[in-house]
Amino acid sequence: MSIKETTVEIKLKNLKNNLDYLKSQINSQTKFMAVVKAFSYGSDSRVVSKELEQLGVNYLAVAYTQEGVDLRKFGIKIPILVLHPQENDFKEIILNQLEPSIYSFRILSFFIEALKNKNKTSYPYQIKFNTGLNRLGFLKKDIDKLSQLIKPNLPKYIFSHLGASEDLDEKKYTEKQIEEFISIDKALENKLTTPLKKHLLNTSGILNFSEYQFDMVRSGIGLYGFGNDIKYENNLKPVLSLKTIISQIHEIKAGSSVGYNKGFTAKANSVIATLPIGHADGIGRQYGNKKGEVLLGDKMAKIVGNVCMDMLMIDVTEIKCKEGDEVVFFDDNSYSAEEFSKKANTISYELISSISRRIKRVVIK
Ligand SMILES: *Cc1c(COP(=O)(O)O)cnc(C)c1O
Repeated sequence: MSIKETTVEIKLKNLKNNLDYLKSQINSQTKFMAVVKAFSYGSDSRVVSKELEQLGVNYLAVAYTQEGVDLRKFGIKIPILVLHPQENDFKEIILNQLEPSIYSFRILSFFIEALKNKNKTSYPYQIKFNTGLNRLGFLKKDIDKLSQLIKPNLPKYIFSHLGASEDLDEKKYTEKQIEEFISIDKALENKLTTPLKKHLLNTSGILNFSEYQFDMVRSGIGLYGFGNDIKYENNLKPVLSLKTIISQIHEIKAGSSVGYNKGFTAKANSVIATLPIGHADGIGRQYGNKKGEVLLGDKMAKIVGNVCMDMLMIDVTEIKCKEGDEVVFFDDNSYSAEEFSKKANTISYELISSISRRIKRVVIK
C-alpha cells in the first residue's frame, strides 16, 4: 500500500497469528484474557477488541475505567476487567458491567459503598495481590481482614502480576512470586472455605512459566507481536507498522545546522529530509541526535538534531530519495519496533503505546 501521510497500519491477520501461537502454549481449557489497555498498546482499541472478541478470547482487560466504558459503548459484550479503578469510578463500572480489580482496602470500601447504593448483594469483581512487584495489590497479611469483607460477595478470580517474567536471570525472583501467590491462594481459600479461580501469567509468563497458567492467562504485548526475546520472532508477528513520507528535502552546506538549538551541525555538505512526525506523535526526543534510525527502501537513515513536536529530520546524504518517498519507523518484516526502540534505550511497549491518536490508522484485514 502506498501512503500519503504518517500512517499506522494494523494487520489483523498478525493479531490472529499471535493469539493462535499464545494459545498453543497453554491448555485448551485455560481462559484467555486479552489486554487492550492504552488504546490496545497504541493500535486501536475498538477495532482490536472487536476482532479479539470475534476470535473468541474470554476476557478483555483495560487499565482505566473510561477505556472499558468506551468498549461497552462500541458494543463489546465479553467481560472486561478494569485493572486500576479509581475511587470515583464505581457507579460507571456497575452501569457498564465492568469488572473492577480490587487492590486495596480503600478501593474495596468505595466498591462496597457503590454496591450498597445500587442495592446489589452480588457483583463480579477480582482481587489483586502484590507478590513482589510492589505496585498494586493486597498482601498476604491482609487476608484475615479481607476475607471478612469479601465473604458476602466472593471474587470471580484472584490474581497477581509478575515483575520479571521475561528475564530468565531473575528466575528465582519469579519463582518466589509464584510461591507467594500459591500460598496466598491457599490461605484465602482456607479462610473462605471455598476454592477460588486465579490467574498470574502475562505474555512472558505464558512463554516461560506456562505450568503456572492456573485458570486464565493475560496477554498484551504478545498479541501485538513481541515476546520480549528474539527467539519468538518467527512465531509472533508485529501487528503495527508506522510509516511516513518525506515532506521536504534540503541540501545544506558544511557548517549549517539543523533543527532547534542547532542540534546537528553538518561537517560536510549534506542532504536533510524532513518527516511529518515528532515527539507529540510518540517519537520522543530520546530518538534525536543520531540515536534513532529509520528505513528508506533498504537503507537506514539517522535522525539528526532534536526531534521537534510535529517533525523530525533525517540525514539522507548517502541515500537516493525524493519528496513523497516512504519512510518506515517500524513494520512487521524488515525493521521491528523492538529494534527501533532499543536504539534509544527503551522497549517496544513504550514505543507502540505512545503512538499518538492523531496519526491515521489503517486496518488491513
Ligand atoms: C499490562 C498488564 C498485563 C499485560 O502484560 P504483557 O507483558 O503486555 O503481556 C498483564 N497483567 C497486568 C496486571 C498488566 O498491567
